[in-house]
Amino acid sequence: MLQFDNRLLRELPGDGDTRNHSRQVLGALWSPVMPTPVAAPALLAYSREMADLLGLDVADLASSKWVNALAGNAVLPGMATYATCYGGHQFGNWARQLGDGRAIFLGETINDAGQRFELQLKGAGPTPYSRRADGRAVLRSSIREFLCSEAMHHLGVPTTRALALVTTGEAVVRDMFYDGNPVEEPGAVVCRVAPSFIRFGHFELPASRGDEALLRQLVEFTMARDFPELPAAADERLLHWFVEICERTARLMVHWMRVGFVHGVMNTDNMSILGLTIDYGPYGWVDNFDPSWTPNTTDANGRRYCFGRQPDIARWNLERLAEALAVIAPDPQGLAQGLARYDATYSEEFRSAFAAKFGFATWREADAALIEEGFGLMHRAEVDMTLFFQNLAHMPGEKPDPIHLLEAFYSEELFDRHKDEFQAWLSRWAARVREDAEATESRLVRMNAVNPRYVLRNYLAQQAIDQAEQGDPGMIEQLLDVLRHPYDEQPGKEAFTAKRPEWARHKAGCSMLSCSS
Ligand code: AMP
Ligand code: MG
Repeated sequence: MLQFDNRLLRELPGDGDTRNHSRQVLGALWSPVMPTPVAAPALLAYSREMADLLGLDVADLASSKWVNALAGNAVLPGMATYATCYGGHQFGNWARQLGDGRAIFLGETINDAGQRFELQLKGAGPTPYSRRADGRAVLRSSIREFLCSEAMHHLGVPTTRALALVTTGEAVVRDMFYDGNPVEEPGAVVCRVAPSFIRFGHFELPASRGDEALLRQLVEFTMARDFPELPAAADERLLHWFVEICERTARLMVHWMRVGFVHGVMNTDNMSILGLTIDYGPYGWVDNFDPSWTPNTTDANGRRYCFGRQPDIARWNLERLAEALAVIAPDPQGLAQGLARYDATYSEEFRSAFAAKFGFATWREADAALIEEGFGLMHRAEVDMTLFFQNLAHMPGEKPDPIHLLEAFYSEELFDRHKDEFQAWLSRWAARVREDAEATESRLVRMNAVNPRYVLRNYLAQQAIDQAEQGDPGMIEQLLDVLRHPYDEQPGKEAFTAKRPEWARHKAGCSMLSCSS
């Protein structure tokens, strides 16, 4: 039995309208709403680590009582169901009210260690925030969210988690590329878990409506519930809090750049106040290193959310949050300190992460140029990011040779064309590594701790999806298992480290994704 303590409902104003119809919700942060039951709930996958953390027995989770709850067909004692109200800037423009259009909370549970978690069903039917959409989610995007949340956790990247994935036995109609080709797809529901699902957009909406009282209430609530370590009521509390958000967001961006993750839709409604990766949609993993790569076809023209721009976009999003907080801040100018901390934290953390990725014991000023040139070469020669760092770690320092990087190349022609440049670069890299006078073994340990071997490559997720849609969920389990230890060598699992096969280069789901999910 989980213990529920639904503090958000208790402490923040709710919507008086209890009917489930699309509407503008004013003066309230949440609306009561029941999930819409589905035809045939079945448990497809679960995270045993997440179940453990909640104090939930795996046998319990697989019981029909829980499977029904995870599909939205039953509400267990202590749970409360609601959707929250937020706005957001989408692709740079203010989009006004958005809200949980297809996420329904099951309440907040507290585990034996006293940790609080919000539980949320994604895809459990319409809410007052669904606008004209159906509140549902398809299996493919639910598998992607389930696997990637857990993979990110095991990589050490702050993230919301996934407890379980259930299929609904119902079809959902989606036009995957918005090109007039709607098809029926299997539906699914993911149960997501996080200490808080509060987003930047939750603050932007009341600020944009001039509802200072509501904004103040939400700020006080978030500081008290989600940031208990902040100094007790002091004049500068709000500023301390904003600085903390900026630092966490900066650290998150360094993690994404370190592991090669591209979120794909960094709208302010998809930015977590806790600095977690949130809302896995058309995300992707960098195969051949390319800062301009975006997995999101909706973003293909502007490339606002491409790999290399993520740190700048996060800062832009923090500026929007600062504007919202300025409405009630005792010292609005002071919020600039937070943004300055963002810049400083990002560059400090980037240096330490990338010094480790390249195998340097500490960061030196001159390393910036060497790393930049390395990135330029990797980009021009279409080198696989993950395999590059794996192979670099094992480069013989006395006699570096680009041939040891061959596995990371997608094209032999590009290897031949660029091998002399790589030779020159590797000689400088090796000289730099020798300056540290460090044993190879300890350098390897450091590099292996930050350079993942196993990431959720886009084509791997797609293979798991294709098989699950054909009725075989086995690969979901295999991926979940291999991604539990992303930095370790796993004998027999080498196939999961393979670079993107040629068939996946331009295939839907592998390199091209959309928000239609
Ligand atoms: P996203 O791009 O997934 O972050 O979603 C942006 C907004 O659209 C959020 O308010 C979502 O809740 C809403 N939304 C996305 N898909 C659906 C859907 N199928 N039904 C209802 N609302 C949706
Ligand atoms: Mg979203």
